[in-house]
Amino acid sequence: TVRTRIAPSPTGDPHVGTAYIALFNLCFARQHGGQFVLRIEDTDRVRSTPESEQMILDSLRWLGLDWDEGPDVGGPHGPYRQSERGEIYAEHAQRLLDAGHAFKCYRTSEELDELREARKAAGLQMALKPVDLALPDDEQARREQEGWPYVVRMQVPSEGTCVVNDMLRGEIEVDWAQVDAQILLKSDGMPTYHLANVVDDHLMGISHVLRGEEWINSAPKHQLLYEYFGWQMPQLCHMPLLRNPDKSKLSKRKNPTSINYYRRMGFLPQAVTNYLGRMGWSMPDDREKFSLDEMMASFDIQRVSLGGPVFDLDKLTWLNGVYIREDLDDAAFLQALRDWAFNEAYVNQILPQVRPRVDTLSQVAPLAGHFFSGLPAIDEASFADVKLERETLLKLLQFLVWRLEGVSRWDKEVLLAEVKVLGEHFELKMKALLAPVFIAVTGSATSTSVMDAMVILGSDMTRARLRHAIE
Ligand code: ATP
Ligand code: GLU
Repeated sequence: TVRTRIAPSPTGDPHVGTAYIALFNLCFARQHGGQFVLRIEDTDRVRSTPESEQMILDSLRWLGLDWDEGPDVGGPHGPYRQSERGEIYAEHAQRLLDAGHAFKCYRTSEELDELREARKAAGLQMALKPVDLALPDDEQARREQEGWPYVVRMQVPSEGTCVVNDMLRGEIEVDWAQVDAQILLKSDGMPTYHLANVVDDHLMGISHVLRGEEWINSAPKHQLLYEYFGWQMPQLCHMPLLRNPDKSKLSKRKNPTSINYYRRMGFLPQAVTNYLGRMGWSMPDDREKFSLDEMMASFDIQRVSLGGPVFDLDKLTWLNGVYIREDLDDAAFLQALRDWAFNEAYVNQILPQVRPRVDTLSQVAPLAGHFFSGLPAIDEASFADVKLERETLLKLLQFLVWRLEGVSRWDKEVLLAEVKVLGEHFELKMKALLAPVFIAVTGSATSTSVMDAMVILGSDMTRARLRHAIE
C-alpha cells in the first residue's frame, strides 16, 4: 500500500513550502488509495517549540490537507513526535554500532577543525571520512575509558559513485568522496535528522518520500542507512522548491512565507491550496482553477515539472478574487468573513482598545479599521510628523523587523522588551521611537495603542506592515 508523509520541524512559522509538499504527498497517497501521515521532527530541542507545532497543524488543517495518522489523531505507528521516540533511535544506533556500520567518534571540535583545515590545505573534499576521524587504538580506548563525550557516526565509502533513484529525475549520481561520516547520534544522545528520518520512515511503513529538492544531498546517506539496516528504501521524489519572482529560493525577506500571513490577509484556504497545486504541476487540461478533490482525482506525479515554480503573490491574489466572485454565494461569503475576522473571539480582543477612545459607535470602524485590513497605504509623507531623519527612521524599522523575526513568544511583555532594545540601540525615548512604528503598523498617526495592536494583529501581519513601510 502507498503511504506518504509530511515531516515538518516545528522550529518557526508554518511555511508555505511545508503546505506545498504536504499537498503533493496527500494527493499522491489518495490517488493510490493510500494513507498520508504527519510526523513532527522535533529532534532539535533548542529550536523546536510546541507553539510552532500547533501552528503547523492548524495551518495544514485550515488548508484542508488532512492526515490519517499524526500526533493529534494517533494511529498504529505512533508516537508521531520524534522527541517521544528516543529509545527507538538509541536502539537502532546500537544495532549499527554492533554491526560495524557506525562508530563512536571522540574527536573534539578543535580536532575536527584541524582535520578540515588539513584537507583543505591538501586540496581535498571537505567531507570527513571515517579514516580521517579514526584515532590510534590506544587513544580511542583511553578516551572511552575516561568517559569523553562522543557522537555516533556512520561508515561511508571513501570512493566510488552512489546512484540514487528519483521518481522525477531518474538516476542521480553522487561521488562518495563528497559524503561525510554523518553524525547519527549527537553527544547528548539525541538523533540527527538522518537517523530519525530513516528509522521512522521505515517503522511507519512509508512507501514514497516526496520532499523538497534541498534534501537530495542527503539521499546517498539515507540509502546507505537502509542498506545497513537491511530494509527496503521508500521511493524518493525530490520536488522543485518554490521561488520568488526573481527565481531565487522563496524567502521571507522577499515574500511572506508563513501560512499565517495568508490567512491573516484574508485569502481563502481553497484558493491557497489550489494555487499551491499549480506550483510545478498542472491539470491535464491546464485549467487554473480546481478543487482539492479534482486535483486528487487527476493527480499524476509525472506531471510535475522541474523548472522552479514561482510563488507569485499577484497571481494568488487574482485567483483568490476569482474564488470570491465565482464560488461564494452571499451565505458563504458571510461565513468566510466570520471565519476570518468578523467573529466574537477576534472582536472581543478589539473592544478594550476602542471603548475608551470613542463617543459614538460610528467612530469604531474608522478607528479600528487597521484590525480588519491588510497592508496600509503608506508613503514617505505618512511619516511627515515624525521628528526623525528619513534614514534613521528606515534603519529603525528595519532593525525592529529583524528583531521581531527572532521572537518566538508573541506577547506584550516580549514585544516591550524588544522595543526597549531598540530604544537603547538608537538612544531614543519610547515616545519618539514608537511614533514611526505606530504609523507603520496602524497606518495612521492617531489610533489605538500600537503595542496592543501588534499583539492582536500577530507576528506575521505586524512584520509584513513594518516591511511594507520601508519598501
Ligand atoms: P531557509 O532557512 O532555507 O531560508 P526557511 O527558514 O524559510 O528556509 P525552513 O525553516 O528551513 O524555512 O523550512 C521550513 C520548511 O519549509 C521545510 O520543510 C522546508 O523544506 C520548506 N521550505 C523552505 N523553503 C522552501 C521553498 N522555497 N520551497 C519549498 N519548501 C520550502
Ligand atoms: N524535517 C524535515 C523538514 O523539515 C523533513 C525532510 C524530509 O521530508 O525528509 O523538511
